[in-house]
Amino acid sequence: MAFDESGKIWMDGELVDWKDAKIHVLSHVVNYGTDVFEGIRAYEIDGKAQIFRLEDHVKRLFDSAKIYKMDIPFTQDEICEAIKETIKANNLTACYIRPIVYRGYKELGVSPVNCPVNVAIAVWEWGAYLGEEGMANGVNIGVSSWRKPAVSTFPNIAKAGANYMLSQLANMEAKDNGFDEGLLLDVNGNIAEGPGENVFLVLDGKIYTPTLSSSLLKGITRDSVIKLAGDLGYEVNVLPLPRDLLYIADEMFFAGTAAEVTPIRSMDHRIVGEGKRGPVTEKIQREFFKIVNGEVEDRYGWFSPVD
Ligand code: PMP
Repeated sequence: MAFDESGKIWMDGELVDWKDAKIHVLSHVVNYGTDVFEGIRAYEIDGKAQIFRLEDHVKRLFDSAKIYKMDIPFTQDEICEAIKETIKANNLTACYIRPIVYRGYKELGVSPVNCPVNVAIAVWEWGAYLGEEGMANGVNIGVSSWRKPAVSTFPNIAKAGANYMLSQLANMEAKDNGFDEGLLLDVNGNIAEGPGENVFLVLDGKIYTPTLSSSLLKGITRDSVIKLAGDLGYEVNVLPLPRDLLYIADEMFFAGTAAEVTPIRSMDHRIVGEGKRGPVTEKIQREFFKIVNGEVEDRYGWFSPVD
């Protein structure tokens, strides 16, 4: 997907032309990966942009920054407003929103503390991350040979750019091996998450997803799915989950802002269930899309309108 470069990007309080949204090559982030970011979606409901769980995403951005001692020079409310302003300036409704907090240009060395904390917000149109076909029929997944870092080594809960070096390895490896996406285990061999998605399993009508101590991002879609599934009457268990369960689960699906709710049709060349979207996955996926497409009322207060 090439960018439409005609829009505006918000940088430290100003909207600048897309092509002028540049930083110096000696910025701390370029050399040491010093950034935290978010991925948020806005959906078009009744002709206007409605941002999905905006405050929760912005809170997670600030939590990620706090872990890395990055003092964001704006309040959470100001960032929420800046996101809305950026969507309006780009005349978009349904879009993907990328706020980035990064250590900028001043001096270089491992210590980031003297480098400024800069903020940018970009928005663009983005469809189904794992493809429309994957949404309907499921995707083929392979377990990665790479492991997520142990919880004692590197914060997995911070959504930091540097974490995605590992995600890139797992994603490229999966594609090289003919899969649509990879799945990472934690250091103990328990199920962790996809390179950019949380994972859910269905066994005997009950739903399972790995716990945060298995080195994963505290996904906001994960949280939405847990709530929706509970309200649909399913038992949802958040536990350490051994790899073996991947091969005996009746259904599996990914959940994430980009992936939304995507069924998994095979795991390591073993067909999951009937090899297509299973009934529990379909119910949850349908409920999720009813909400984000505005077909049912926003009963959880998940949307922030862009007026
Ligand atoms: N895990 C990883 C590694 C991710 O990059 C993402 C996408 N942000 C997720 C899980 C899903 O999180 P969310 O639902 O908040 O987008």
